[in-house]
Amino acid sequence: MHFKDLMIGVSGVRGVIGKGMTPELALLWAGGFGTWIGGGKVVVGRDTRPSGEMLCAAVSAGLSGCGCDVEDVGVLPTPTVALAVEKRGAAGGIIITASHNPQEWNALKFVRSDGRMLTPTDFTELHGLVVQGPLRSVPWNRLGTIRKWDGAETAYLSAVLGVSILNLDRIRKRRFKVVLDAVNGAGSFTYPKLLEALNCSVVPLNDTGSGIFPHSPEPRPEALEDLSRVVKAESADLGFAVDPDGDRLAAVDETGQPIGEEVTLALAIQSVLEITPGPVVVNSLTSQVVEYVAGQYGVPCHRTRVGEANVAVGIKEFDAVAGGEGNGGLIYPALHLVRDAGIAMALVLNRLASGRKTLSALAGALPNYKMVKAAFPLGDRDAQTIIEEVAKFYSHDQVSRADGLRVVYEDGWVQVRASGTEPILRVFAESLSQEKAERYSAEMLEHLGSL
Ligand code: MG
Repeated sequence: MHFKDLMIGVSGVRGVIGKGMTPELALLWAGGFGTWIGGGKVVVGRDTRPSGEMLCAAVSAGLSGCGCDVEDVGVLPTPTVALAVEKRGAAGGIIITASHNPQEWNALKFVRSDGRMLTPTDFTELHGLVVQGPLRSVPWNRLGTIRKWDGAETAYLSAVLGVSILNLDRIRKRRFKVVLDAVNGAGSFTYPKLLEALNCSVVPLNDTGSGIFPHSPEPRPEALEDLSRVVKAESADLGFAVDPDGDRLAAVDETGQPIGEEVTLALAIQSVLEITPGPVVVNSLTSQVVEYVAGQYGVPCHRTRVGEANVAVGIKEFDAVAGGEGNGGLIYPALHLVRDAGIAMALVLNRLASGRKTLSALAGALPNYKMVKAAFPLGDRDAQTIIEEVAKFYSHDQVSRADGLRVVYEDGWVQVRASGTEPILRVFAESLSQEKAERYSAEMLEHLGSL
């Protein structure tokens, strides 16, 4: 079996249905996972993509065939499935979702028994097993059972509502009017229930759960025109947009202006630090606005390599109280070590409820950093070699090599790292001044071009 066109990531595998991702590969990787965990119960859940049911059947067969009992929790947001792994005392979980990737993609994400995504080390072991075998195979009388469990959503909702720093009374009294754009994804059903439990008046948008995405599946400002329009038309307090598997969040303020995923994350983190100050961990590409927020509370902000699993490892290491990725993926470790748009929504509402300020005022109180993104084509050259060489253009005390190359200036930063999916280097630069961000990016591109 070949893995051509199957993209192998930090905690999972993904591909276009019928090309990189096929039922045969799903079955093989599920068998590999069942072998890696050594049997036991496995929670399986999925987003709303039309290919999800087919992959779920293949995954279930692969798990049963190696003696794992399957608990199919159905269509649910990724954080809800991950939490079910813990709640059910399962040996692991498989989530069938290609997250923010386009319609034609699907993927398997692997979850450990503690409800976290596989770490890079875990995944290397699993990958090795799948490639080399042998995979577990049990006789007819030891095949795993395949059952449904419909309690995952209730368990998730009560876990979120049980988070101690949420002032439920105060949130409920405000009766926030919230427009929720679920992009017809896995958040279509669970998140309205969560908001209703917080006594919000919910105006649903793209909540069919059809798995047919009405706009770009990433909750970036340019994808949120409809949400902005409805927030204004409904005179809502705010709008929330989630990605198809409901782990990333972006908010739109009461004027219909998207505040961006970075600022949404920063506000959720501020909401945590306001009550329980402590270290913060974000990935290397997250906006400095999070460092600013950490500075407000006098707590450190650490950075890790890009990837949810890497951030989760960092949160453990630094005993952080909050963290995440600048794409709107908040991790709140007191609940679990998984990016979670549900708890992020509750935390943003908690912050709004703690004063009389509007969302635009809260967002407007944060510095407005400008990020510039660019790409440098590698051709057939090796990314690491080029990154080594370009480092020589910068002074030692300016650079960090934790994730590609990061150059820190007094008033900004520029970072270059290899793309996980294309033969390019990605260049990110940020500063309060657009002109400076562009200059840092242009200088890096010029150095790269001279090599
Ligand atoms: Mg996602």
